[in-house]
Amino acid sequence: MLQVPEPFLRVERLGRDFGRFTAMDDVRLDVAEGEFLCLLGPSGCGKTTLLRSIAGLDTPTRGKIFQAGREITRLPPAQRDFGIVFQSYALFPNMSVAANVGYGLRGPAWPRERAAQRVAELLELVGLTPQAERYPAQISGGQQQRDALARALANEPGLLLLDEPLSALDAIVRLHLRQELRAVQRRLGVTTIMVTHDQEEALSLADRVAVMDRGRVMQVGTPQEVYATPANPFVASFVGRSASFDAVVAGDGVRLPDGTRLPAEAAHRHPEGCQVRAFIRPEDVVLGGEGPLTGEVTSIEYLGSVCRLELRAAGLNLQAEIAPRDLDGMAPGERIPLALPPGKLMLFAQDG
Ligand code: ATP
Repeated sequence: MLQVPEPFLRVERLGRDFGRFTAMDDVRLDVAEGEFLCLLGPSGCGKTTLLRSIAGLDTPTRGKIFQAGREITRLPPAQRDFGIVFQSYALFPNMSVAANVGYGLRGPAWPRERAAQRVAELLELVGLTPQAERYPAQISGGQQQRDALARALANEPGLLLLDEPLSALDAIVRLHLRQELRAVQRRLGVTTIMVTHDQEEALSLADRVAVMDRGRVMQVGTPQEVYATPANPFVASFVGRSASFDAVVAGDGVRLPDGTRLPAEAAHRHPEGCQVRAFIRPEDVVLGGEGPLTGEVTSIEYLGSVCRLELRAAGLNLQAEIAPRDLDGMAPGERIPLALPPGKLMLFAQDG
């Protein structure tokens, strides 16, 4: 029989109330050993509350957390096995880059020589060997965050927790550090949970993404799964860009409020006459060709490698993407044929 491995971290029906306000509810999550999981969601959705519960920096009101088979729900942070990096680095300003990394390497497990060797290894790993003797104020934001990462990894923790570690950095440093972070994580194979509200960051870094809204986990899946097959309208609109509109299931497609019929492969999953919210990604809208719709261009946004068009067609507001070389003098007000491929329309039954 196939052995299903125990998850390294298991979160069971976790909830946290602050007075009458529920910040987190019924959160269930399994994280495999070595996995990189991102907690993604809008501000205030409970991501940090969940991460803090896993670290023992906050105590959940309900539910349980297990790490490596041991229940840790109410253990103090010092008795847990994790390293953490915060958005605001939190380095010790009066200690050198190297001393910051070595800060936690004390006690019988870390004789002086072994600790020094470990610090050197980690500085090498994050590319800070030349800056080892500087102070945090004498290095850049990106370097400070590398120092914080090395410090979090010093004790060889089983779990690495990252709370928006890249969000204070400028766009270029952020992109660079994102790739480095992934490379370091892969090399060490350390199970990692990262909080972010940046969907591009989550999609590009994570093995799996847990999308949260209003204290609950809406969907857990690979980046491809949450993007291509969102579980509900929230995930469809929060992850990636999309246009959405109301429609009614009719035969093998949907009928729009203005009477237009659109074929849709997903229609068969809903009963005839069902009210649905339909979503379509900009990259799936096909411009030109035979139609069958005609769209009026309402705006054109030039973004360098791509142009984003806003269009109005059959009473709908749609978005499409086009290569700048295909713009060919196109201007707002122009009417162009377009099609919404039947396999690309995502449909969700409307509540009530
Ligand atoms: P952000 O991306 O803005 O950091 P988040 O998803 O991490 O948001 P949390 O920090 O987990 O959100 O907060 C979830 C909700 O719980 C928020 O509405 C927040 O105001 C509330 N909350 C968090 N901590 C407390 C607290 N100590 N007392 C009262 N409410 C709190």
